Amino acid sequence: RMDFPVHLTEKEDVFNILPVRNRVSHKGKNGFIGIFAGSYGMEGAALLSGQGALYAGGGKVAVVTSAGAHSALAGRIPELMVSSLGKGPFFTEADSAEALEKAKAYDVIALGPGLGREKETGKFVKRLITSFDKTMVIDADALFAVKEEHIALDTCPGRLILTPHVGEFSHLTGLSPKEIENGRIDEAIRFAVENHVVLVLKGAPTVTAMPDGSAYVNTTGNPGMATGGMGDTLTGIIAALAGQGMNASGAALAGVYLHGLAGDMAAEKTPVGYRAGDLAEWIPLARAEVMK
Ligand code: AMP
Ligand code: MG
Repeated sequence: RMDFPVHLTEKEDVFNILPVRNRVSHKGKNGFIGIFAGSYGMEGAALLSGQGALYAGGGKVAVVTSAGAHSALAGRIPELMVSSLGKGPFFTEADSAEALEKAKAYDVIALGPGLGREKETGKFVKRLITSFDKTMVIDADALFAVKEEHIALDTCPGRLILTPHVGEFSHLTGLSPKEIENGRIDEAIRFAVENHVVLVLKGAPTVTAMPDGSAYVNTTGNPGMATGGMGDTLTGIIAALAGQGMNASGAALAGVYLHGLAGDMAAEKTPVGYRAGDLAEWIPLARAEVMK
């Protein structure tokens, strides 16, 4: 196997990097998070990412969605700002100029949950990923577009964090799910090094590989999390931690750990059947537990 260091992520590792909020902090110090997510019929993914970001302590959290999803999202969560681009059910390339204008205000963006896989949406994703120059979390349908639109990740200006599950990683790399499961750590490292990104390969266990070739195997999480929406919540968590000043590697590492710990807390009484939105409510308690 490749000669790169592999670590198990323990509570202490996360304690050491999670920021302690300053007594005189204000919302402008904790990141303005822009979440580009949702389309007509997949609105919930945007809400779950928004919840993840809010419960992870993001300073201000804005969801930017397509016109067709706007009314289903607006006002659902009072703390979440909701706006839309364009006129249709999903994003198109024509919406990308306005998206980039909006993105100037954000410290971090998350991109992907519930966007859909329309060709036009792929072109929108390409414009955003190849232009945004801060930290960006790329998940779900945006990962699909990375492959379909041949986006050269290593030449993008931003610091990129990709969060595929095995199916998405299989599409991205051309490896079969079996090949990935047989070499989960090595394949994650290879991808992170070759593309100069932080790669969060989700599953049991989640492996977070850094562009320097180091990798972290997560120790939290449980099979109750094998339900829809759980990954959308993680995307918001990681973006919010980056907004609070953590670097891309730290935000991914800590986000994965806290997400799993929140799931473990949710599963204590109800091992199966808690929802992604239920997990989200445990994120602050997971964070408090780590900081004890
Ligand atoms: P997604 O497939 O994008 O909704 O993401 C699912 C999330 O739940 C990821 O963070 C996975 O790591 C987590 N998850 C799913 N199944 C398990 C499992 N059996 N054990 C631990 N975590 C899991
Ligand atoms: Mg997902």
